Amino acid sequence: MKAGRIVKVSGPLVEAENMEGAKMFDVVEVSEHKLIGEIIELHGDLASIQVYEETGGLGPGDPVYLTFAPLSVELGPGLIEAIYDGIQRPMDVIKEAEGDFITRGITAPALDRNRKWDFKPTVKQGDSVISGDIIGEVQETPIVLHKIMVPPGLEGTIVSIKEGQFTIEEEVAILKNGDGKETPLLMYHKWPVRKPRPIVEKMLPDQPLSTGQRILDTFFPVGKGGTACIPGPFGSGKTVIQHQLAKYADTDIIVYIGCGERGNEMTDVLMEFPELIDPHSGEPLMKRTVLIANTSNMPVAAREASVYTGITIAEYFRDMGYSVALMADSTSRWAEAMREISGRLEEMPGEEGYPAYLGRKIAEFYERTGRTICQGSDRREGALTAVGAVSPPGGDLSDPIVQATLRVVRVFWSLEDTLAFQRHFPAISWLNSYSLYNIDEYIKEKIGPEFITMRDDAMKILQEEADLNEIVRLVGAESLAPQDRLTLEIAKSLREDYLQQHAFHEVDTYCSIEKQYSLLDLILAFGEKAKQALGQNVPFDDLSSLPVREEIARAKYIPEENMDSISQIKEKLNTTIEELIKQVE
Ligand code: ADP
Repeated sequence: MKAGRIVKVSGPLVEAENMEGAKMFDVVEVSEHKLIGEIIELHGDLASIQVYEETGGLGPGDPVYLTFAPLSVELGPGLIEAIYDGIQRPMDVIKEAEGDFITRGITAPALDRNRKWDFKPTVKQGDSVISGDIIGEVQETPIVLHKIMVPPGLEGTIVSIKEGQFTIEEEVAILKNGDGKETPLLMYHKWPVRKPRPIVEKMLPDQPLSTGQRILDTFFPVGKGGTACIPGPFGSGKTVIQHQLAKYADTDIIVYIGCGERGNEMTDVLMEFPELIDPHSGEPLMKRTVLIANTSNMPVAAREASVYTGITIAEYFRDMGYSVALMADSTSRWAEAMREISGRLEEMPGEEGYPAYLGRKIAEFYERTGRTICQGSDRREGALTAVGAVSPPGGDLSDPIVQATLRVVRVFWSLEDTLAFQRHFPAISWLNSYSLYNIDEYIKEKIGPEFITMRDDAMKILQEEADLNEIVRLVGAESLAPQDRLTLEIAKSLREDYLQQHAFHEVDTYCSIEKQYSLLDLILAFGEKAKQALGQNVPFDDLSSLPVREEIARAKYIPEENMDSISQIKEKLNTTIEELIKQVE
């Protein structure tokens, strides 16, 4: 095996000479420990290598073995339920073999080589197939049907195809191309992580990713195949919101990349995620999840790799025609890794020491999302949605990573600790968040155009509240006109009875878009009717103290199947206010 020689070691960065023949981003094995590294700079035969394990004890003269291949992941049955590190080593498998303290240089195949999968062919001998065509299926978990596809770049005629129990290294079909060359097809293939997987066409995300979370679905929807950013001040409810998304967003597959800083941050995810239950199937959520985790004993450079490993796996499931949600927590840790490496390479620093290419890297990552026509003759549609958490120091949104992220993502869910202090959950600001996705056509067709009007009216009331609060602060609430006091009342109802959503309440944890419509309609109906009553000289206090208000407040706890009772409350409020009007006449 060809080997170069280390000339310098600087933390996770190793410089090696005698590396002719190597290419940028090739994987190398460093020292006799065979630590995995990636070439990130090349000058003649001198290579700078980012090493994904502790480099302590390495020194000049140690060998560096060339593999002549880029950093790649294995894609096939066995991905679901796996817990990988940044370079796709199965942490659970290694931990079982090695215990808590993992020896350096340890490797284990990403996909189990011994497990047999039940392969059911979906094409037959003589069929001609192109890249992306599905040749068979494997029921990977009770909720994930793994589609075995013709890998990108291959096409031809199926010479033979089998059915039955096979390991991923056994041949399931043989493909013959136009030149008569035969290629055995296995249930897995490899793909370089830094190269986006090919698609046929990208389309505008015009359908929302429904999440069952009122503030997100109604006001700040993310398109299916879209991008969103969520800042995560400590204790603001970031973990809860991510779990809610994982549980309730209408996606088939979840890829969760944890770039936690402190070791325990990641352990939390590793402990909590496997506990979650998928509400649709009743199965553990892990049955449709791939976890990628960086533990504290891995150097920062591995975070860099984990982001690419994660998105490549996500793309692979998208290619099957699935809707995939990728969550990266937190991308700030990834950017910090880039900063560290860039500093050691002595590159010209940009803002706050981050490399000048920070923005480009972040943009390239989010560009791998989308609603797409996948490869394959059936032109199936897939979607890859990404939600990236950012954790700027001190919650400062002018931070370069936040800014670079906001330039590319189209939704911002502004999680704020001030709201969390007030126990307003989810602590997402309705004033500072935004969504640039226009899904109005979808809403009009699916729910009705009134929903758009109601949504806009509700937001207007919430904005008016912010303005009125300024006045109240200056001159006190008593000086407000009754109409304005009513606006404050309705805004309060919108905040407490609509925006607040209890993640741990059996019913409230999920709210369908239809129920969102009914609830919003109920609250706004009260506003309308009360406004009319004020115009007829009904005293404000009589309206604000109506017992039916309590029923409005409790409406969100009405189960989906009893939604009719929400319209009954609406009727009741109309009649009670009518009576008040009659009394003053
Ligand atoms: P972070 O991950 O940002 O540090 P967590 O997600 O752990 O914060 O949330 C902190 C606490 O806030 C939770 O333990 C829970 O009590 C409360 N909380 C957050 N979101 C909600 C929610 N939607 N409903 C109810 N409680 C919530």
